[in-house]
Amino acid sequence: MPLQATKRGSARTALRGEYDVLICGASFGGLAVARELAGSGARTLIVDRYEVGERATSACGIPTDWMYALGLERALQQTFGEILLHTQYGSVRWRLPWTFSTFDYRGMCSLLRAQSPDAAFETATVTGRTGEVVHTDRGDLRAELIVDALGWRRMLGTRATVQPPNARLSRGLEVHPHGRGTEMEIWVKRSYVPAGYGWSFPADDELRVGVGSYDPHYHVKDPTVRLAQDTGVDTVRYQGNWIPHKIRPATEGGVFFVGDSAGHCLPTSAEGIRTALYFGLACGRELRAVVEGRRRRRDALRRYHLFSAAHAWKFDLLLNVQQAYPRVPAPALHRIIQGMARQPVMDQVWNWYMGIAPPEFARASRVADQRPPVAVAA
Ligand SMILES: Cc1cc2nc3c(=O)[nH]c(=O)nc-3n(C[C@H](O)[C@H](O)[C@H](O)COP(=O)(O)OP(=O)(O)OC[C@H]3O[C@@H](n4cnc5c(N)ncnc54)[C@H](O)[C@@H]3O)c2cc1C
Repeated sequence: MPLQATKRGSARTALRGEYDVLICGASFGGLAVARELAGSGARTLIVDRYEVGERATSACGIPTDWMYALGLERALQQTFGEILLHTQYGSVRWRLPWTFSTFDYRGMCSLLRAQSPDAAFETATVTGRTGEVVHTDRGDLRAELIVDALGWRRMLGTRATVQPPNARLSRGLEVHPHGRGTEMEIWVKRSYVPAGYGWSFPADDELRVGVGSYDPHYHVKDPTVRLAQDTGVDTVRYQGNWIPHKIRPATEGGVFFVGDSAGHCLPTSAEGIRTALYFGLACGRELRAVVEGRRRRRDALRRYHLFSAAHAWKFDLLLNVQQAYPRVPAPALHRIIQGMARQPVMDQVWNWYMGIAPPEFARASRVADQRPPVAVAA
């Protein structure tokens, strides 16, 4: 549940300074970058308009292995080996070759933040950038290495931000009522949303029930209310946001973009946590090499840019699936979903999907391997 923990009024003092690394945004992407800089000696500052973990930005569903790979398993809530899909013509059960889990956002962010103890953190709202200077509501911050992990707005880019609903964005809204469940459920019913899907993710004593639309013009408030009513849960504690569905250049104007700011959210599924972590780790490793004098900034920018670009075809393929989805007649869609339930197909599709951002990438972290166990900060 959102808590107002941010310093306000007179407690909001001026903020100025020069850093080696400035990470803007302290959610999945930004905190993953910071983690890879731990112990490097970099003067790192992380800024966010809210305290770490203050505002949940999603239903917090992730492949379970990622939580273990990053040592975040203490924030896990519930684990699911199957997805129960509902179409207009019935229900189909998909058994995954690996598991998905829900987690507690505040707990997860606290654990991840604890892995970068030498980075400073300040609450500040980023308002723009001029060269190596980032402007915030508390003052100007200068850094040689700047990361934009601020989400879909891509605030620190060089071009004017394209605003929704004209940008390449989906939209999602969910309610978080108290309640318990045992199934991870997905609704692919056009009666809720012509292009998109509904979901219910149980997380201990909470259910996260929502609807996402691939078409940003289609409002999801009414469908979310209808899905909540149909599943018998209260329409309380709303949480929603825009979701990028087009990968974008991961560097621009000397800035590194990570997570939603680079469109690192997978089309069709709108899964963006795992990928924000994945590209965050990749970016952090490049920055670490610069800080330690092993690489020039310009080479790190090029390498990270190419690393992200090498994944673009997979994102584009999923975008094609997303765009084809509304054109598939409902009976055919049901048959496709049934056909996919065959275990060899399931295993192949979902293992390919996991391979886009595999948990082994986190385990390969040299930094993580050398780090002593971290304490829970929450
Ligand atoms: C309703 C909904 C449900 C979702 N469910 C899932 C799910 O279950 N699993 C999944 O994988 N993905 C899910 N997603 C997608 C996922 O939330 C995003 O892809 C993911 O959060 C991206 O992480 P990020 O770190 O790039 O950006 P964000 O998580 O958006 O973090 C951006 C950070 O920047 C801060 N910030 C923004 N602007 C400013 C500013 N001007 N100044 C200072 N700070 C600022 C924010 O406070 C925030 O902390 C969902 C999205 C929605 C909308």
